Amino acid sequence: METIYITIDDQHITARKDATILENALANKIYIPHLCYHPDLKPAGSCRLCLVEMDDGKLVTSCRMPAKEGMVVRTNSPAVDKVRRPLVEMILANHHMECKTCDKKGQCVLQKIRAYMKIDKKRIREHFRFPQETVPPDDSNPFFTRDHNKCVLCGICVRTCQEIQKVSAIDFAGRGNNTKITPFGDKPLAASQCVSCGECVIRCPVGALISPYLRRPAQEVRTICPYCSVGCGLLLGIRDNALVNVRGDSESPVNKGLLCVKGRFGLSFITSPERLTSPLMRKSKIQNPKSKIRYASGIPKSEIFKEVSWDKAYEFIARKLKNYTPGEFALIASTKCTNEDNYIAQKFARVVMGSNNIDTSVRLSHSPSLTAIVKTVGMNLFSPTFDKGERLLSSRHGTGEFWTEIEQAASILIVGANITRSHPILGLRVKKAVENGARLIVISPRETDICRFADAWMKPYPGTDLALLMGMSNIIVENGLFDSSFIEKYCDNFENFKESLEDFPSGRAERITGVPRDRIGEAAMIFAMNKPGVILWSTGITQYAQGTNNVLSIINLSLLTGMKGLYPLWGQNNALGACDTGCLPDFYPGYQAVALPEARKRFESLWGRKLNEKPGLTLPEIIDATQKGTIKVLYIIGSDIMSKLAPEKKVKAAVEKAEFIIHQDIFLNETSQFAHVVLPSASFAEKDGTFTNAESVVQSVNQALEPPGHALPDWEILCKIAKRLKFKGFDFNCPEEIMSEISSVTADIPAQSKRFLFTPLGYKPPAEVPDIDYPLVLTTERDLYSEGFISGKVEGLKALQARDNVYINPKDGLDFGISDGEGVRVISRWGKIDGMAHFTRSIPTGLVSIDLVEEKINQLMNPSLDEKAKIPELKICAARVEPL
Ligand code: SF4
Ligand code: SF4
Ligand code: SF4
Repeated sequence: METIYITIDDQHITARKDATILENALANKIYIPHLCYHPDLKPAGSCRLCLVEMDDGKLVTSCRMPAKEGMVVRTNSPAVDKVRRPLVEMILANHHMECKTCDKKGQCVLQKIRAYMKIDKKRIREHFRFPQETVPPDDSNPFFTRDHNKCVLCGICVRTCQEIQKVSAIDFAGRGNNTKITPFGDKPLAASQCVSCGECVIRCPVGALISPYLRRPAQEVRTICPYCSVGCGLLLGIRDNALVNVRGDSESPVNKGLLCVKGRFGLSFITSPERLTSPLMRKSKIQNPKSKIRYASGIPKSEIFKEVSWDKAYEFIARKLKNYTPGEFALIASTKCTNEDNYIAQKFARVVMGSNNIDTSVRLSHSPSLTAIVKTVGMNLFSPTFDKGERLLSSRHGTGEFWTEIEQAASILIVGANITRSHPILGLRVKKAVENGARLIVISPRETDICRFADAWMKPYPGTDLALLMGMSNIIVENGLFDSSFIEKYCDNFENFKESLEDFPSGRAERITGVPRDRIGEAAMIFAMNKPGVILWSTGITQYAQGTNNVLSIINLSLLTGMKGLYPLWGQNNALGACDTGCLPDFYPGYQAVALPEARKRFESLWGRKLNEKPGLTLPEIIDATQKGTIKVLYIIGSDIMSKLAPEKKVKAAVEKAEFIIHQDIFLNETSQFAHVVLPSASFAEKDGTFTNAESVVQSVNQALEPPGHALPDWEILCKIAKRLKFKGFDFNCPEEIMSEISSVTADIPAQSKRFLFTPLGYKPPAEVPDIDYPLVLTTERDLYSEGFISGKVEGLKALQARDNVYINPKDGLDFGISDGEGVRVISRWGKIDGMAHFTRSIPTGLVSIDLVEEKINQLMNPSLDEKAKIPELKICAARVEPL
């Protein structure tokens, strides 16, 4: 940092050469009044309150004037006061000054300025005309209110929305006294482009933007967001063992203080009165057919369950579990739980029950990513180093630079991901990268927010991504743009792969995908010629019967261009961590294969127990085996298989057949009604541990609140049951001790091959294509306001959820005799769902899309499995739409 010397109010200070006068003054604790300046935004110079006098007598706005060597500045001279005072008086006169009752009292910048300038309120009342009318507030957003009467028109919210959120949901409207900040067309905020991030709210200098969810805390606890796998740092504000505030952690390199709506406003589920507080045991076997509905909306536990002590619950569970063989047991672990919870869960299944039947909901989202990566480049690249003791860990590339690779990329390819909805803060990173000059390529049949930023947006027919990606690879090879030295040095099987590309000349790729060949060529060139690059993908490419091959086509493209950064966008906060810590039927922690005798022996010696040599069953296979009666015990942690898995009838038959179900969670859900025991667990805010984000960075989760009632951390519950069953190796006192064991079992893992593998691929259409009875392609979309079960416990998120929206192109709508806003039924071969038709040109003709608010939508989708990863084809099926 280059420094210079300047003088402000007779103080000689060492100043930053690249900063303005205002920035240097504030850095040296010299106050200059300002309203429109904010350190996160470009200076606007519009409020004019930061005027200073230069030594030549000129007045300048200090927020825009760069500091120069030898400058002499006065911040409060008579000349400055002469201009600044009437400006502040005018603002005060136009402001509804109910300071005593204002939520911003004590933190209001206008109050501070008035006090600093000793402006007398009485004088204002006597000399100025106050606003005659009260403009109604905009309280359409459930999380915050805009009170126009207190707005000082500083524009900070407008610039925040433009510069930081890059949404531009609001702007100045009207003239003179009628000027106000409002969305386009003066719509209510909730009906605008606003994504409810609250970034404007936390920057508003006065009480014009106020949220009841952001009150002043007594203390703050640093932790990690429990929603998506970006892994944003949070500061939970606590007062009287209650959550009163959430702030983005500006010291977190992941989000640098920014948060999306779920991180900032979506945590009230923690204190929901519906939280489980005591262990429950089933009273009778009778199941009320209507209980399902009541479970989803309330807790009829007194009808079905009785509260019991932990002691009684442990005793009962231990007694029951003794009766079952390894093959009769399965454990479904949770991608929401910490690494420590998950490590203990898989150790419990393997050591206590002798079973490898352990899996998670990753099977339903990213198992193809896992399968393809393990086969070709190895999870070594992705798995973190669990650094002993410190629990602050490194990223997969060893840089620990947290998404920096994305922001500094020269090219970014996004496939099958609506990134600004599913991983909002990462979406901002991509937008920032584009601002920095990155070339963005988006592959998405539907127009998503990020398409506005793309150099090349390709709209393939749904389910044809493999042909498009192989078509791009073919063009790169034909034009000699591949990285031959990288391939020679690090890769195998290139020649066979190259041969398979002959099936994907541009013309065929165009015919299969519907994307013009020139567009495919342009995208291929951009991607090959701009390095370094990254590829991000999500369930839009994995949830197919060909999901693993789709991901393999991504990896081929990456290897071809010299190994561009690969980022599967894991869904839930700790999806990757659950896999890393061994919640997989075929891998121990650290991706050591169960089928490898050396790996098994290693874990047998580490855990002091003979282990089952047979890899276990995947989640869909567990359901099959339970339905057949082979699996008799299900231990389900933090999951609702009844809602998530399809077809519903089959899952119901399976859970009804199970002899013993333990359900461990923070809430009751639809699966609970079939449980024999329900165990209350602590939420992320009530325990210590770690989460691993999608960049493979392991981050500390810290306890901020006491768990409700008798709830306990998941690891502790599992350890207590293991100890009841007299097993050794579960004597942990805290998560640090568990992490220390994770470190030791994942240390010194024999390195996987350093050579990467190309995979020759052929194209197969999706398992189901449209026909005369089901002429449309049905797909699902992630809703910004919905993320699994917990978001359904947050009233504000529920209010904003695009519930029941059936998105359809207007042309198709007319062809099928439906009108915009009308009730419709979507029918597939597998089920039906009712919703509201929503006409939009962002959906191409032939496609119909439903927001994935409830996992119930999975019931409509094709259950055909990907052969390798065993994921059902949840992303696409044939359907028709009828008016209701
Ligand atoms: S709402 Fe707040 S941030 Fe926006 S212009 Fe008004 S005072 Fe400034
Ligand atoms: S909440 Fe976010 S998206 Fe909405 S207006 Fe404010 S900054 Fe823009
Ligand atoms: S982007 Fe993901 S991790 Fe970050 S605040 Fe939003 S939901 Fe939480």
